[in-house]
Amino acid sequence: MLSIPSLLRGRSPARAICWLLLADFVFCIGFAIWSRTLAYDSQIQESTAASRAMASAALHHAESTLDTAGWIVAGVVDRVEADGTAGTAGAALQRLLQARARESSVPLAGLYVIDDAGRLVAAAPEGAGPGAADAVRDAAAYHRVRPERDAHLEAPAGAQVVAVSRRIDGPDGRYAGVAVATIPVRYFQDQYRRMAPGPHGLVALTLANGTPVARFPAQAGRAGDGTHAAAIRLKTKETEAERLHTTLGSARFPLAVDAAVGKDDVLADWRRVTWQESVALAGEMIGVYLVCFWVIAQMRVRERLERTLRSTQEALEKQNAALARLADTDGLTGLSNRRHLDERMVREVARAAREGTPLSLIMIDVDFFKRYNDTYGHAAGDDCLRMVARVLAATVNRPADLAARFGGEEFAVLLPNTAQDGARSIAEAICAGVRGAGMAHAASDLGFVTISAGVATVVPAPGSDGRALVEAADAALYEAKEGGRNGVRAH
Ligand code: GH3
Ligand code: MG
Ligand code: MG
Repeated sequence: MLSIPSLLRGRSPARAICWLLLADFVFCIGFAIWSRTLAYDSQIQESTAASRAMASAALHHAESTLDTAGWIVAGVVDRVEADGTAGTAGAALQRLLQARARESSVPLAGLYVIDDAGRLVAAAPEGAGPGAADAVRDAAAYHRVRPERDAHLEAPAGAQVVAVSRRIDGPDGRYAGVAVATIPVRYFQDQYRRMAPGPHGLVALTLANGTPVARFPAQAGRAGDGTHAAAIRLKTKETEAERLHTTLGSARFPLAVDAAVGKDDVLADWRRVTWQESVALAGEMIGVYLVCFWVIAQMRVRERLERTLRSTQEALEKQNAALARLADTDGLTGLSNRRHLDERMVREVARAAREGTPLSLIMIDVDFFKRYNDTYGHAAGDDCLRMVARVLAATVNRPADLAARFGGEEFAVLLPNTAQDGARSIAEAICAGVRGAGMAHAASDLGFVTISAGVATVVPAPGSDGRALVEAADAALYEAKEGGRNGVRAH
């Protein structure tokens, strides 16, 4: 079964491929995590910078808007304190208010002057604009008890306006009324909409005491939606987790701005790319995994085939060797047969001719063997031949020597690189060995089985064959027979 742990324990190169595969996986996953973490950090940084830029722009916008409204109100206060509101001065004041309201670069919801009794002295537009009653009431209540002449900000609950007011002093320095300019909350909201804080982002303006002024997007039941506005809790726990906030306070007005971008908006692209890269990486890893395992599986199949082939080959070689041995062996005695002797004879004659070394041949014939058969039967004759073969095998020792059954009850011993003396002594040793075996042969003159041997030795001439050697050994054997058997003759 192919599994990574088994392959890691296994042999190379499957093991090497597996380690490479694991290293590749670790590297790819590590690299992907690293690169996506970097992308995440830079996305968060970019978005934090964007929220800071939005907060800064919103604060600047609020300050310059309130500056403009403050200057207009200051101008009105100066006029009232200089000219009063009686008679033609009242009509001129009314015209001034209308001109200022019309020409102001900041859209004013209204511009009002009230006297110390809270009566409306002049107003633009005539009558009263939205939120006028609340703004004027709050401003009068504030300035009546405070001698300071600074501009004062109010965001009357539910009035949908921001009021900028200043105190009007009478000639004796006593409270003589207030001048109030109101700016529609919508003006701030439009500005914040243009900043495009995103579906989950926000831009909000509050007074320093927490009173909400304007917010985009408007919050149901909160500032800017026309209903009662409690203090906006800009940083609730859940929004904190989902938004990247920047809060800036004004150095010149009791104001604060909070701008935030939604984390979901910011990270939407990052999530999409991360998802795409993960799918691509998983696909790549699965592809590499499959290819590697296909390669390993192929290697396994090939290894198995090679093993089978090798063992089949070895078995065949063994069988061939056995067959060759059988083809070279005489069935009765287990010695080499005539065919093998002839082959060796050709090679050894050629070698001896090449090297100029003597080659000897001993021809052996069992004495009175016909009589032995006649006396003891053919099966006993075969036993006798096997006994002679055993003596031969025991006497002929050198690896290059070859003892063979020549045919019938005749044997031959081929002795490469052996001179006549050596060959003769081996022949005599065989002769003595057979005699010494003491196998009874009642029909023989000697009473035991014996052999006669003829020895021939030549240094073959180049190109000659073994026939001369065989004939010479045969002739010597004939002489041994003629000489009374149980003996050796050499040529
Ligand atoms: P000599 O001493 O002159 O060699 O007498 P001999 O009887 O051995 O002479 P000869 O060559 O005439 O006889 C050989 C006999 O050996 C003939 C045959 O009956 C017997 N013979 C040949 N091959 C075998 C064999 O494989 N097994 C048996 N049992 N007898 C064999
Ligand atoms: Mg014979
Ligand atoms: Mg014989």
